[in-house]
Amino acid sequence: MSFELADLPYGMDALAPFMSKQTLEFHHDKHHAGYVAKLNAAIEDTAYVDMSLEEIIQTSWDQKDSGVFNNAAQAWNHSFFWKSMCPNGGGVPTEELAHAIAVDFGSFEEFAEEFAAAGAARFGSGWVWLVAQDGKLSITHTANADTPLTAGAVPLLTMDVWEHAYYLDYQNRRHDYVSVFLEYLSNWDFASRNYAAIQSA
Ligand code: MN
Repeated sequence: MSFELADLPYGMDALAPFMSKQTLEFHHDKHHAGYVAKLNAAIEDTAYVDMSLEEIIQTSWDQKDSGVFNNAAQAWNHSFFWKSMCPNGGGVPTEELAHAIAVDFGSFEEFAEEFAAAGAARFGSGWVWLVAQDGKLSITHTANADTPLTAGAVPLLTMDVWEHAYYLDYQNRRHDYVSVFLEYLSNWDFASRNYAAIQSA
């Protein structure tokens, strides 16, 4: 089986002015599409073709098969990232997730500070994640294609901090991009659904 690139869950201009149509076109139609195409080429005629994307990520990670891992993880990470944003996003989470953030970070403001600090701390390309593991929420950042999935954590929300995610709109000002992500783009309904799915599992 081969993987297909899904459309964005919103229009290419739906996140403007915070994330431009030009950024989304390049990021989805060139970068994300490229990872999916390279993944399909890399798994052709291998045992990977019978696996789910998550199984490919774990297996290629365990086997240090970076050619497959990098493209499989980037395919997954980007699909998760598109859902981690929405038009009229930002604000604060509600209900169970809001309560868990207050318990594990002290307050939403402290969570936001730590999330932004993780975005600044990630040197070079990578991802910032809100994850759940062992009944506790935490923020982590990973390099390049790396994902908390391989450590057994459950991602709730992610932010792409590769330069291609923000350079056209913010140039070198990653801090501005991170602030805008939290204030105007983050999809807390998505994160809450991911959190609820763990609670009911
Ligand atoms: Mn990206």
